[in-house]
Amino acid sequence: MKKIAVLPGDGIGPEIVAEAVKVLNALELEFDMEAAPVGGAAYESHGHPLPESTLKLAQEADAILFGAVGDWKYDKLERALRPEQAILGLRKHLGLFANFRPAICYEQLTHASSLKPELIAGLDILIIRELTGDIYFGQPRGRRTAPDGHFPGAEEAFDTMRYSRPEIERIAHIAFQAARKRSQRVTSVDKSNVLETFQLWKDVVTEVGQQYPDVALDHMYVDNAAMQLVRAPKKFDVVVTGNMFGDILSDEAAMLTGSIGMLPSASLNERGQGLYEPSHGSAPDIAGQGIANPLATILSAAMMLRFSLDQPQAADRIESAVQHVLAQGLRTADIHSDGTTKVGTREMGDAVVAAITTKTITKG
Ligand code: NAD
Repeated sequence: MKKIAVLPGDGIGPEIVAEAVKVLNALELEFDMEAAPVGGAAYESHGHPLPESTLKLAQEADAILFGAVGDWKYDKLERALRPEQAILGLRKHLGLFANFRPAICYEQLTHASSLKPELIAGLDILIIRELTGDIYFGQPRGRRTAPDGHFPGAEEAFDTMRYSRPEIERIAHIAFQAARKRSQRVTSVDKSNVLETFQLWKDVVTEVGQQYPDVALDHMYVDNAAMQLVRAPKKFDVVVTGNMFGDILSDEAAMLTGSIGMLPSASLNERGQGLYEPSHGSAPDIAGQGIANPLATILSAAMMLRFSLDQPQAADRIESAVQHVLAQGLRTADIHSDGTTKVGTREMGDAVVAAITTKTITKG
């Protein structure tokens, strides 16, 4: 039986994960789901944001359903004990190198974007971000007294941007394979005009691309990509890029849709094991109020069914059910507008469950 590690975390994490679990249960599939603390909650109970027992559960599971971690009250803790370290630790221990962030604009929510509706209506792009390399992990890094540079003897800090050929090859393959299931287009984003690391990136992505003659590849500098994403986002389909550029561009793309509470994500390793979480954080400002939007987490559960649990039809059922509740006019506060019905976290989850268990939806 497939095993799902359920890690709700902090802030709104437990509220939104409870709804996703409810939706998974409504599918009536055979899963073994086991919950464990992570982030600030785990620091409180175990003295560490990623306790051994939680890590072990995650390693043994086929997939991890993750809520969110973090709260400003932990900002003064030493870095290794901060809630966010749990995510970095899971990525590292499980080798989750490929991050999928779809940015989809639902027809009913086009008004939620700050862009003109015609620019984003029907938007459906997929940002694939390399997640375990680049300047976030490159060594050496640190603080020191500057040995040279503009201010020798001054305090300085430095990080190292690096990518190896195999790291680039494997994320490039992921992007081309994903494009084959979509509209056969990949845009590789780099900064090869300035950075050696990204010249190698561009060279390797181009080489890998030759193995996918059916997929069109183009290259774009990251500064231009940031502009084009707000100028003509629908020109993109699959975007593949490094860790830091992907971090920034995927948030930008998320905001195109105007509703971070709607956007799922997946982080996969070479074995197809994955961590599935909403693109947003723990939203401590609204935690405990029952008003958070659970749809990003519910849609993350759909990605989990598709990518790690071999249940694409069940994923379709969840996605159809989400479309259905939006068409019914149900909205949590973050996406609410005149003429729609405002609902809380739990009511939204219940509505998705109701849509799933309705025959017309399950057949469709
Ligand atoms: P955030 O994404 O938590 O919140 C940003 C804004 O969006 C807030 O106003 C929040 O209320 C709103 N929001 C987010 N999710 C929502 C939802 N589902 N429904 C309705 N509104 C929603 O980002 P932040 O405020 O910058 O960070 C808060 C904490 O989350 C920090 O401790 C940060 O480190 C952490 N964080 C965690 C993750 C993660 O667990 N993967 C990611 C980003 C931030």
